Amino acid sequence: MVLRGGCQCGAVVFEIDGPLMGVGHCHCGACRRAQGAAFRTRARVKRSDFRWVAGEGLVRSHQTSPGFHRGFCGQCGSPVVNWNTGESEYGQRNPASLETYGIAVASLEGDPGVRPGFHCFVAFKAPWFEITDGLPQFAGYPEEGR
Ligand SMILES: [Zn+2]
Ligand SMILES: [Zn+2]
Repeated sequence: MVLRGGCQCGAVVFEIDGPLMGVGHCHCGACRRAQGAAFRTRARVKRSDFRWVAGEGLVRSHQTSPGFHRGFCGQCGSPVVNWNTGESEYGQRNPASLETYGIAVASLEGDPGVRPGFHCFVAFKAPWFEITDGLPQFAGYPEEGR
C-alpha cells in the first residue's frame, strides 16, 4: 500500500511505499509547539521508502538541536518531515535514524493501517492534557524505558 501525505495548502506532497515504524505520540515541548497540539503522533519511515511528489523545494526546516531538523511547508507552515544528520546527538547514538525520516502521521491521507503504540516524552506532557488510554508511557525516548 502506497501512503500519500502532505501539507495543508497542498503544495508539499510525498509518498511512502513501506512500513510505518515506531508509531506513537510524542509529548515533548518541541513537538507540541510545532504541531500546535497536545502531542505529535509520529512514525519513522525508511528514506528509501519515501519520495517527494511535489513541493520538496518549499520545505523549510529549523533545528531544535544541532543536526535535528524539523521540516515544514514554507507556504502554510504544516509540519511534514523531520530528519537527523550525522552531527545530531540522537543520530550518533542511533545511526539507524540517519536512514529514516520522522513523519507526522496526521499529514497522511486515509487510514495508514497502523495504530499508535506508546506515549513518549511524557515527562514534558502538557499539564492540561490527561492521557486516558492504556498505552505504555515513556519519560523520554521509547527505547530508553519509562
Ligand atoms: Zn503547504
Ligand atoms: Zn517530540
